[in-house]
Amino acid sequence: MSPPYRRLSLWLDQVADDGDALTPRAGLTAATDADVVVVGGGLTGLWTAYYLTENDPGLDVLVVEQEIAGFGASGRNGGWCSALYPVPAATLAAEHGDAAARAMRAAMRDTVVEVAGVAAAEGIACDVAYGGTVVVARSAPQLRRARAEAAEGPRWGDEAELLDADGARARLAATDVRGGTYVPDCAALQPARLVRGLARVLEERGVRIVERSRVVGIEPGRVLVEHDEHDEHREPDEHRKHGEGARPGRTPALTAVRCRHVVRATEAWTPQLPGSRRAVVPVYSLMVATEPLGDDVWDAIGLRERETFSDHRHLIVYGQRTADGRLAFGGRGAPYHWRSAVRSQYDRAPGVFTALEQTLRELFPVLADARVTHRWGGPLAIARDWHASVGLDRRTGLAWAGGYVGDGLSTTNLAGRTLADLLTDRDTELTRLPWVGHRSRAWEPEPLRWLGINAGLRAMTLADREEELTGRPSVLERLVRPLLG
Ligand SMILES: Cc1cc2nc3c(=O)[nH]c(=O)nc-3n(C[C@H](O)[C@H](O)[C@H](O)COP(=O)(O)OP(=O)(O)OC[C@H]3O[C@@H](n4cnc5c(N)ncnc54)[C@H](O)[C@@H]3O)c2cc1C
Repeated sequence: MSPPYRRLSLWLDQVADDGDALTPRAGLTAATDADVVVVGGGLTGLWTAYYLTENDPGLDVLVVEQEIAGFGASGRNGGWCSALYPVPAATLAAEHGDAAARAMRAAMRDTVVEVAGVAAAEGIACDVAYGGTVVVARSAPQLRRARAEAAEGPRWGDEAELLDADGARARLAATDVRGGTYVPDCAALQPARLVRGLARVLEERGVRIVERSRVVGIEPGRVLVEHDEHDEHREPDEHRKHGEGARPGRTPALTAVRCRHVVRATEAWTPQLPGSRRAVVPVYSLMVATEPLGDDVWDAIGLRERETFSDHRHLIVYGQRTADGRLAFGGRGAPYHWRSAVRSQYDRAPGVFTALEQTLRELFPVLADARVTHRWGGPLAIARDWHASVGLDRRTGLAWAGGYVGDGLSTTNLAGRTLADLLTDRDTELTRLPWVGHRSRAWEPEPLRWLGINAGLRAMTLADREEELTGRPSVLERLVRPLLG
């Protein structure tokens, strides 16, 4: 019996109801060759394979996934397919110039259109609603941030409309709304339907996908893969050092794949790969979803165009009205775990779920009696300078993409297109974007990493409380932000 993947998120649960049993595909059991080995079957890996086959249908591409396609953040996220990118345009401009920053913003906006367009063209029904994003301001400091954001947007080509209280409430009737911003460049979608659909399309194109096969070593021209066909009962994420803890007399088999290029698309699991321990840190984001709500409830809340929504607090919260009328709502706040550990038990933090449900009912008192039917979470990855990046080391043939923080649903598509161009030797507008080839410095060793990240997460919660109490922009946030970014 395979692990209960459907319990990983509302979205995977729905996919299972659609008739996708989430049964793992065959693992890698015999040595093989490929032109490109993609490590990780999330959206980064699958989009890369997709555009590689667009650029060169003759390429032999092998995707190696330790669980099933969509097991990671790609099958569990908030479904905001947005033009957000973790580095502010002004920071990109300071490092690379105004034109490069504007090009990156334009590429991100185009990416939202691209994702929706490919899903439609490939017949992947993933409930896309191009409703934009409304972010309400519920205090004076939040209103200041809304004004600043709306003023900054046009400088980089972004449309960001400043809303007065009535305008914001017309889109999202949360409590205490004083104004907000509306950005058109976002689509709400069902992420697991996207990632599972994409995997199906790839197989139809002849891309090989092997599952429950874990890459334990990446070298120029060679990837080492571990697959234990007898280890059917292990829980997801129960990975060990090669062979460690295996049942007596059994060591999982190691298989080598020879290839020209390797793409590392492992996001929050990257620190588990030899040589990448401090490349990014895994940070958890958690979500809850209500039962489908009645029309009367939706009349009271709004989101008529299925706008994705948030407010301008520091510790991020995010939500979407799902196609079947639920409210799916998430936020950060779960702790960082010692030595960048990623374990299935960290997907659930009862204290964070309670806080999310409280926040949801505070925002929308009409939800007082609504039942929460799903609670889940997953790890995302953050680079030391919060700079997502994509690149190819031509000397070794090793490529990578990741560090998207909470903005990967669309950015993975841009990464996939860019990697495909790099790997097929094309010099394009995409390969000249400022995140290409960016190298972030390594995170600090423990215990500094644990202390710093958890102090930062705590500081953001306290900064929101400070603003609630004082009605002024948080001093704490101003002190801590340079250390975090
Ligand atoms: C709860 C939550 C909410 C989010 N909400 C949003 C949102 O609304 N909008 C947005 O833009 N972003 C959001 N994000 C972030 C977004 O989901 C991610 O940035 C994006 O999915 C990353 O895709 P990926 O393919 O790089 O990584 P993942 O989807 O995590 O995929 C990595 C894959 O690699 C596999 N893997 C790892 N190591 C190995 C190995 N050694 N061998 C083989 N396979 C391996 C993993 O099993 C996994 O399937 C959210 C994230 C979370 C957790």
